[in-house]
Amino acid sequence: MSDCIFCKIINKEIPSNIVYEDDLVVAFRDINPQAPVHILIVPKEHIPTLLDLNEDNKHLISHAYMVAKELAKKEGIDEKGYRIVSNCGNDGGQTVYHIHFHLLGGRFMTWPPG
Ligand code: 5GP
Ligand code: ZN
Repeated sequence: MSDCIFCKIINKEIPSNIVYEDDLVVAFRDINPQAPVHILIVPKEHIPTLLDLNEDNKHLISHAYMVAKELAKKEGIDEKGYRIVSNCGNDGGQTVYHIHFHLLGGRFMTWPPG
């Protein structure tokens, strides 16, 4: 998608702080971090929302969670704990319509979120 900010990051058309990349996903630091560690794990395939998941792309979800686990260890937030968030649609608070997983850690997370 030519007008998608995350596709542009994935294609290296705009800069980002990439911390991990493989054939399926890219992970980079959020530009507006909400915790000491705030990394976005983004499938390379342009999938607008969680409603667009299907049998062909659902493997990207488990892969993203496995990448999150390894990044949590690398960032030193595995022992104290971390949170993975995926917002869907307007009421879910989604602002970028290319699915992504927020990996948040380095502080205590309150519940419920606002
Ligand atoms: P959402 O609100 O869709 O769940 O999350 C989108 C996230 O993308 C936000 O946390 C926002 O700070 C982040 N973001 C938006 N534009 C950029 C960008 O150009 N670069 C980076 N690194 N993060 C971005
Ligand atoms: Zn995209």
